[in-house]
Amino acid sequence: MKTNTSENNQENKNEPCLCNMTDELKEKIMEFSEDYMHFLDAAKTEREAVKEAVNIAKSHGFKDINKKRSLRPGDKVYGINRNKSVYLAVIGKEPLTDGFNAVGAHIDSPRLDLKQNPLYEDNGIALFKTHYYGGIKKYQWTTIPLALHGVVALTDGTVKEINIGEAPEDPIFLVTDLLPHLSGKQNSKKMSEGVPAENLNIMTGSFPTVTDEESSVKATILALLKEQYGMEEKDFRSAEIEAVPAAKARSLGLDKSMVAAYGQDDRVCAYPGLMALMDIDKPERTCICILTDKEEIGSVGNTGMKSHNFELFLMDILEKNGISNSYAPQRMLSASKVLSADVTAAFDPTYSDVMEKNNAAFAGRGISIKKYTGARGKSGASDANAEFVGHVRKIFEDNNVAYQSSEMGKVDEGGGGTIAYILADRGMEVLDCGVPIHSMHSPYESASKYDIYMAYLGYRAFLLNA
Ligand code: MN
Ligand code: MN
Repeated sequence: MKTNTSENNQENKNEPCLCNMTDELKEKIMEFSEDYMHFLDAAKTEREAVKEAVNIAKSHGFKDINKKRSLRPGDKVYGINRNKSVYLAVIGKEPLTDGFNAVGAHIDSPRLDLKQNPLYEDNGIALFKTHYYGGIKKYQWTTIPLALHGVVALTDGTVKEINIGEAPEDPIFLVTDLLPHLSGKQNSKKMSEGVPAENLNIMTGSFPTVTDEESSVKATILALLKEQYGMEEKDFRSAEIEAVPAAKARSLGLDKSMVAAYGQDDRVCAYPGLMALMDIDKPERTCICILTDKEEIGSVGNTGMKSHNFELFLMDILEKNGISNSYAPQRMLSASKVLSADVTAAFDPTYSDVMEKNNAAFAGRGISIKKYTGARGKSGASDANAEFVGHVRKIFEDNNVAYQSSEMGKVDEGGGGTIAYILADRGMEVLDCGVPIHSMHSPYESASKYDIYMAYLGYRAFLLNA
């Protein structure tokens, strides 16, 4: 027998773990992560993620629910909510009022949004003002290549799409930082104050347009925007332009065992959840995948999970199944089981002091269930029922899914939330269950390919068996 030299190795060799990964499984893991990395590159914003998800769904036979008059077991439908969130369902054989099984993930990620009056010129440089979205460490967003993704809504009703900085021939954008030679004052500040939000200004030009009256770099930029997008300066007022890292997803490490990329919170759960649903044909219970927006700023807005547009999709399903009694929607919700598919913090050996080792999630140990999230005494958590957690464990154990149980970090260090409490609020059984990642909310997060594949297996097993 081999000596177990790593303290992180699981002891029971009968349980699925990295230590008994077969070559066949490894091949599937590597293949799945290649497709995942393509998805990451194509879907850096919530709008792009909706588009990609719908393309994938269509290629698996899913139809727009608005184009269906009735639904039968085995039917596959999706409903898009304002191009920023999407709900997908495979109709099951059991009555809908007996509930559905779902996986719910979010597709928005922290980033820098252009302000509504973003463009200005200062001493020969044209810049964009930004307002950051979600929880970021501001210093991480300086001096990295950024791409601009988004839309501009013109007053005539047309919506122009913007995507600059991804193609190799495209320019990129940049937030500057102070040179070390002049950083004495900055270096002595608290880290959270070293780069104020109003310093997150994006450089966008430096060649002036010279006329008899003036010499203006801003005029150069406005002329290019007019030429390429037909937009005027005022049109920024009705634009959603997101500056995201321009880097592509890459394999990480000599053994290529990890994925490094922007936006893995929460695409590392959204993509496996989506692909799990794509595998399902004629299930017993109706299976659903929720890809929602605005989680990073509190699930607000009519595209976030707090809005009731998901219920509208469910009511549409009920009606098209011929179910119309007034309490059917609530009965359906109360009988439903959901995995809130969101990332958790992976134990980082370099910053081990904020972790409580017995209850930390480790990269490479599989998908992590979290009975509760929250901060300062579980505040903001839904705290799953023990019976339901037991039910999910059994599904994972019966289906050879490597899983672990964790919290975010030491109780007094902070915390965080997911969409779990919102789903629980509507009556569903909910358990947080996602992939542990390193450097969460940074421009370049990383995750274990093993865990990504286990998320896919776990979500699929849950959808089919919960
Ligand atoms: Mn998340
Ligand atoms: Mn997050």
